[in-house]
Amino acid sequence: NIIIFWHRRDLRVSDNIGLSQAYQKSSKLVGLFCLDSNLLNRDDIAPARVNYMLGCLQHLQKSYQKLGSQLLIFQGEPTKIIPKVADALNVDCVFWNNDVEPYSKERDKQVKEALEEKSIQSKTYWDQLLHAPGEILTKSNNDPYKVYTPFWRSWVKEEKADIVESIEKLESLSDEEINTVKDLGLIDLPTAKDLGYSWDAPLLLEPGETAAKEQLNYFSDNAIYSYQEQRNLPAIDATSKLSPAFKFGIIGIREVWQATVEAYENTRSDEARENIQTWQQEIAWREFYQHCLYFFPELAEGPYRDEFKEFPWDNNEQHFQAWCEGKTGYPIVDAAMRQLNETGWMHNRCRMIVASFLTKDLIINWQWGEKYFMQKLIDGDLSANNGGWQWSASSGMDPKPLRIFNPASQAQKYDPDGEYIRLWVPEISSLDTECLVTGKIPPLEAHSCGYPQPIVDHKQQQREFKERYKRIKN
Ligand code: FAD
Repeated sequence: NIIIFWHRRDLRVSDNIGLSQAYQKSSKLVGLFCLDSNLLNRDDIAPARVNYMLGCLQHLQKSYQKLGSQLLIFQGEPTKIIPKVADALNVDCVFWNNDVEPYSKERDKQVKEALEEKSIQSKTYWDQLLHAPGEILTKSNNDPYKVYTPFWRSWVKEEKADIVESIEKLESLSDEEINTVKDLGLIDLPTAKDLGYSWDAPLLLEPGETAAKEQLNYFSDNAIYSYQEQRNLPAIDATSKLSPAFKFGIIGIREVWQATVEAYENTRSDEARENIQTWQQEIAWREFYQHCLYFFPELAEGPYRDEFKEFPWDNNEQHFQAWCEGKTGYPIVDAAMRQLNETGWMHNRCRMIVASFLTKDLIINWQWGEKYFMQKLIDGDLSANNGGWQWSASSGMDPKPLRIFNPASQAQKYDPDGEYIRLWVPEISSLDTECLVTGKIPPLEAHSCGYPQPIVDHKQQQREFKERYKRIKN
């Protein structure tokens, strides 16, 4: 009997729990991906992300062909398409891996119900996390954690699952069988241009499983051993750059964990091991934010903390535009925003700097920044992005009341030679390093370089933000 495996954020065939379970049921298995019209019609889609995803789908199609089967691509609403296709192919069961996002949870519930109505089974698994929501709860009350550090302590202690066994061979559908689903939205894989999302710059990471595995190997043989020391320096290539692969499940999380364990065993140096553990902590941040979104879906709608629900933001459109374009007159902020606009990715330290600047210096609602990031990021992901923004805005679960970054101190500390600034803001690259990192560029020099004067004064804005915060708290 035919089995459908519905791919969503797991565009790979190896180390895939749901797929491997489906395969155990029957090797007459076909992969299905639905270009979800509800998602593609949103106004926070990033061209780089769509390009990466379509490239990964192309690789996934080849993986299916190599295994002897097909990946069928449909376009439309999954709630309508999946049950119809399953019915037309007379399948026994549709398998997929769960997701934490509110939209996906609701969509999956509807698909499940529609399948049930047609007496078709569905089976779902947790695949994208080392520990599913509900596995890591507070010891005292069995509640989800709201603070990262205790979450990490409990998370790291739990045993991690092994890599899932590979699939060897699948049986394909006949042409006749495929013909039965031709009118149900079956399409050839479109290009990003077809969908209106052209992207000409190189992607952060080559699409597909092979490239993601190579990148994981490269990182875990090299930069992982100095990650803690170098991860905050945006001029250095010191982080894994695997975020798009994590976003679309191009690499299995158990495989990633295994790579960190091997790196750990390959060294006897305590220092190197600490560096590896710092990277494992990032993997746990990813899981923490996914658990938070799963248990507190209201995070996606707005600030978690009540006092921020009525915060008197300035929301100055011109300031927002200057921030988006990297023309604020604060070199580190501008460098970061231009990196985002030109490459579809931004270094984590810089994400924190520009997020603090938008919310605390420009006093603009963090949700504007959250959306702009989603419109640009190759790795744009609701849980991590929302988590990062709420952390930076101080509106999230984190108990620390106010977190304000001084752009000059950040640049002095993390880009001391102005290398990152010079790379992304070339018009001021010939100025003294001191000018670049402190942002104190004499007006005449700035003018002759065509670089703007600072659009706000950091100290004044910091005071203003604190006063407003005090007012709403009382
Ligand atoms: P590495 O440093 O190599 O980390 C490895 C992996 O751990 C990352 O690929 C990512 O999956 C995960 N990770 C690392 N840091 C975090 C974090 N703070 N929160 C959650 N997961 C983390 N990350 C996204 O994947 N998508 C987003 O949309 C996103 N938006 C962000 C917005 C803001 C305001 C901030 C402050 C952070 C955001 N991050 C986001 C987290 C982080 O910046 C990126 O994951 C990281 O820069 C990706 O580069 P990397 O793969 O080289 O990371």
